[in-house]
Formats: sequence, structure tokens, C-alpha cells
Amino acid sequence: MSDTPDKPKHFIRQIIDGDLESGKHSRVGTRFPPEPNGFLHVGHAKAICLNFGLAQDYQGQCNLRFDDTNPAKEEERYAKAIEEDVHWLGFEWNGDIRHASDYFDQLYVFAKELIEKGLAYVDELSPEDIREYRGTFEVPGKNSPYRERPIKESLELFERMKAGEFEDGKMCLRAKINMASPNINMRDPVIYRIKHQHHHRTGDKWCIYPMYDFTHCISDALEGITHSLCTLEFEDHRPLYDWVLDNISIDCHPQQIEFSRLNLEHTVTSKRKLNQLVADGHVDGWDDPRMPTISGMRRRGFTPESIRDMCDRIGITKKVNTTEMGVLENCVREDLDKNAQRVMVVLDPVKVVITNYPDDKVEELTAPNHPKEDMGTRTIYMSKEVFIDRADFREEANKKYKRLVLGKSVRLRNSYVITATDVVKNEKGDILEIHCEYDPDTLGKNPEGQKPKGVIHWVSSSHSLPATVRLYDRLFNVPNPGSEENLVSTLNPESLKVIDGARVEMSLKTVAPETRFQFEREGYFCSDRYDCKEGSLVFNRTVTLRDSWAKIENKG
Ligand code: ATP
Ligand code: MG
Repeated sequence: MSDTPDKPKHFIRQIIDGDLESGKHSRVGTRFPPEPNGFLHVGHAKAICLNFGLAQDYQGQCNLRFDDTNPAKEEERYAKAIEEDVHWLGFEWNGDIRHASDYFDQLYVFAKELIEKGLAYVDELSPEDIREYRGTFEVPGKNSPYRERPIKESLELFERMKAGEFEDGKMCLRAKINMASPNINMRDPVIYRIKHQHHHRTGDKWCIYPMYDFTHCISDALEGITHSLCTLEFEDHRPLYDWVLDNISIDCHPQQIEFSRLNLEHTVTSKRKLNQLVADGHVDGWDDPRMPTISGMRRRGFTPESIRDMCDRIGITKKVNTTEMGVLENCVREDLDKNAQRVMVVLDPVKVVITNYPDDKVEELTAPNHPKEDMGTRTIYMSKEVFIDRADFREEANKKYKRLVLGKSVRLRNSYVITATDVVKNEKGDILEIHCEYDPDTLGKNPEGQKPKGVIHWVSSSHSLPATVRLYDRLFNVPNPGSEENLVSTLNPESLKVIDGARVEMSLKTVAPETRFQFEREGYFCSDRYDCKEGSLVFNRTVTLRDSWAKIENKG
């Protein structure tokens, strides 16, 4: 039984509980089987949390297995990235990493067993003819003329296929099931094809490669997997999964269970489409912070906890649905609200001169690192010249505007109350400086008889540092870009805005990469994993403080 009774009992947990109760199984074994042909995305995170999470909860094991039956070009790079992502999400696989290619010898023996039993045959139809003969949903398939060839002949040809005697596509091995089956997957599926291609792990040992449906179920069984969890598109493959295991000499028969995939609004969860964005240069690599890849989300500042939290919240069902981006964003907001230190950063600085502040004075003030949690304090510096955000000042404004207005007062966060007395402009009318007076008696208390309406963030001009801040927004403008004919036309042209002249407080001088903050009043930000270093500070916006898209969408 699971030792986490508080977790929701989704239907897969109910099946597992039943299997443990009935004695069908005494342990739980799951696996996560990515194909190393791209980086993992947020959809994979759902499958990872499910498989590794169940193993954790039931004190079982979850294997990481690379489905490398289809030799891919950049396999090694992708495999490394996948391992890193699984670890970063907080999971550890059981023992060594497995590879479908580890089982090529055994798979070959099982294929021969099927031939010997009269359950597989070597077909010489061309790939086009095989497709033609397969039929459609309405039309049953036709038997290949090679279907009834003698077992001995198939065995011999299969061995010669392995020996490299034939060209790609010249023949293949097919399971002999039923060409009239209503399930097209059961119409004598191809289980081995000739492919004269170098394999990253097995080198040139093989020129025939097993197909996914044949490989996957046997790999599961060889590893003693109890519950083989996959997404709904494999539902129609389940009869084949079972057929293969029922007809070979193996005494483990895992149960395949399907659940609905994660679809997320305003993004795509298909490696092929993500690959297109990378290859065509629409983003800056697989780990561009706008990408819904795990490494992209990491670089953007998402925490593993927030991604796991989202996976818990959406749950596991068989219902096809699409999750709003807001759900993921709220998970990271909640996490960072509680756990991220506050700092002050001015994104669009305008100079404020405090005319009655002593010229060379620099005061060290103490600021709390978090309004509620116990995260200590830090020193901030007050001086005669400070920067505030251009959007926090107006010459005139109505009562709703609770920031600095000419002739009015505002509090500088963790510092004094200032009153704007004058503005200096250039010929074009741009504001160059705002002149203010401060009230020295307002540190930590309000001035006599009046309470300033607003509090704004700021940094000292002499005691602050320049920084680059990347404001990320959603990569796509439409809720369901994956369904559009032209994916590229739905890209959000505003998905990245780079601010070069931001000013950050001194406490960020030696910030470590991948440190997350709330920039007060601006949002949650993370120091860039690769680009942020002392002397060249770079921060990525993870998420705004509030969901600005919800507002827009509700209005529309
Ligand atoms: P893609 O369509 O992006 O190429 P895939 O299913 O081909 O995805 P795999 O590497 O084969 O990618 O997937 C590994 C595992 O992750 C599979 O068990 C698959 O079912 C699961 N998975 C893939 N996409 C999702 C998703 N969007 N939601 C949940 N699970 C997913
Ligand atoms: Mg796949």
C-alpha cells in the first residue's frame, strides 16, 4: 500500500492498490522511456512525476530507459540533457540507465521464436505495397503473398537480413496476426526492418532494427516492470503489446495503462515542433527560457517544486484536456512568493536628486529580505541621487495614481518619504531629472499628520550596478498554436524584450547563477544560469507578479 494516504487516489493508484492487495504484485516497478531525439518538455515532466512519483510512494523502482531503436543524430547530447532534467526535477532512477539497445540480442532471439512458432514471417512487399495492403478503417487489409511462406524460409531470410545481405526496404519481418482486424495495429505489424545505419551504442553490429511496439513491451518485461504507463495514443497499441508478450517465452507481463497527455495553452508539447523552432532559429536553442522544455523552464527560473506541484494539481485521468498556462504560472508564483528573497531593481531608471540631502552622505539602511518569512536582512544604500522607475513619476495625476507626482509625496521602500518639487527636461520634453526633498524624520515612521499614499522601489545612483534584464512573455499568441497550420505565424513577437540599462542594488553584485528573486513590484526573476557573472549581471523574468493575460482574456 502507498504510504502517502493524503495523495489523491487517481485511477492508476487504484489499480496498483488493487494489484498489491490481491497479491498480483508484491512490488511496484515503473519506467520512464524517452526517445533521445530532443529535449524533454513540460509534458514529459508529467510522465516523469507520475512514474518516478509512484515508485517513490510505493517504495518501488523506476527505471530510466532510452528508447534508442531509431538511431538519432544527436542522441548523446539529448541523452545527457534528459538525465540532467530528471535529476533536476528531483528524481533518481533505479540502478544504471537502461537502453532498448541493451536488449537487441534478446529481441532477435524472441523474433526467431515467433518465426519458429509460425507467428512471424519475412515479407518482401515494398514499403508502399505494405501500406497499400494494410487497408483502412473501412477496408480490411489483404494478406501479403509472402505470408504463408515456409517457416524455414523465413528463418533463413531473417538470418540473412541480419547478416547484411539485403538493402534497406528490400524485406522486413512481420508478425502474423490478422489482416482483417478492426485494429490496424494488429494487421501483421512490421517488427523488424533493415536499416544500414550506425548506432550510437551498438556501432555497426546491427543492420536490422526492431520496431517500437515489439521492443517496448519486451524491454518492460525484461526489466520486471509491473505497470507500464503511457499516453492515450498508445491505447490502440495495447493489444499488440499483449500479443507479443503472450506469444514469446517470457514470464513477466506488465500491464499497460494509458493516461491523457499534458497539453498546455499558448505552447506546444511536441518534440518535432520544438525542434523546428530551434532549427529555424526562432528561439535561442532548446533551453531558451521561452521554450516549454524542462531546461528552458529551469533557465527561466521555474523551480522543480513548482513543476511537480503543477503535475499534482492537474492530476492523472483519461480525459483529453488542455491546461491553462496560468496554472503553471500560479504554481511558480506561489512557490517564489514564499521562498524568493526580495530585492530592489529599477528597470527603466530616471534620476531623482534629493536637493536637501547632504552631498556626500551615504547612509546604510537595513531592509528585510522577505515581508513574512524569516530570511534575514540586507544593507541598502541611501544617497543624494537615486533612481526610480520612469513609470513611477508623473507631473500630474489623479488620485488613483499612488506613486510620485509633482508637489506630492511618496515613500521610498525601506527609506524616507520624498516630495517632488521640480523636473528638469531636455528640449524634446524628456524628463532628465526629478528634484525632490526628503523628510529626515520619516525613516520607519510617517510624517506628522499625513501618510503618503504610495511606496515605490528605488536604488542609490552611486551604490547600484548596471544589469541586463530579459523580460520573457509567452512564446505564442494563440491558445492552441499546435493546431495552427503555420506554427511560426502564431509566434508572439513580444516574447522577449531585453533591457540593457536596468540598475540593481549592491547586494546583487556577486549573485550566484540560478538564484531567484522577487524584484519588488516588478515580478520574479532569476540570474541567468550561463550569462550572469560579476561585472555582467543578467536576469531573466520568470513570471510577472500577477497574471496579465487573464485580464486581457477576460476583457476580450
Ligand atoms: P513527442 O510527441 O514530444 O515527441 P513522445 O511521446 O514521442 O513525445 P517520448 O520521448 O517517446 O516522446 O516520450 C517519453 C514518455 O513521455 C512517453 O511515455 C510518453 O507517453 C510521455 N509523454 C510524452 N509527451 C507527453 C505529454 N505531453 N504528456 C504526458 N506524457 C508525455
Ligand atoms: Mg515517441
